[in-house]
Amino acid sequence: MSTVSGAVLTGMNIPGHAKALVKIAELAQKEGEKRGYTGAQLAKYVETEVQKARAANNETSVPGVYAAGDVQYGVPPRVGSAVGQGAAVLGELFHYITKHPGLFPSFKPKT
Ligand SMILES: Cc1cc2nc3c(=O)[nH]c(=O)nc-3n(C[C@H](O)[C@H](O)[C@H](O)COP(=O)(O)OP(=O)(O)OC[C@H]3O[C@@H](n4cnc5c(N)ncnc54)[C@H](O)[C@@H]3O)c2cc1C
Repeated sequence: MSTVSGAVLTGMNIPGHAKALVKIAELAQKEGEKRGYTGAQLAKYVETEVQKARAANNETSVPGVYAAGDVQYGVPPRVGSAVGQGAAVLGELFHYITKHPGLFPSFKPKT
């Protein structure tokens, strides 16, 4: 897990993540052009591919592991921040679980 002075790096602070997203955008641009997309359709395709690859705000460099509160890098040490991030992590975690059903065979999302 990536850390700075004991604080856990998450989301866009994960080393190399921003650079990786730029690369993904370039590849998506080429793939979109190959598919014949232009203008707004191409821009939407690139945006969707980048969004899919983007780490969630509270996700660490270890996929499926999240950090909330004072332990997270760059967060003001406040009770409200810790509570808010804890709540946000739940949403990110459910998104991760539904994206990886094979890892959580007993999880049955409510429909
Ligand atoms: C003196 C002081 C005054 C403050 N005043 C305010 C204030 O007025 N208003 C405000 O909003 N914020 C204030 N804060 C900040 C606030 O307390 C923190 O931002 C908030 O508690 C962070 O919550 P957290 O859950 O991230 O971490 P914590 O509340 O620190 O909880 C982390 C928990 O993990 C446990 N833990 C650590 N390592 C391990 C381990 N290896 N295994 C198992 N458990 C572990 C710790 O024992 C602790 O219980 C103050 C902080 C201090 C120190």
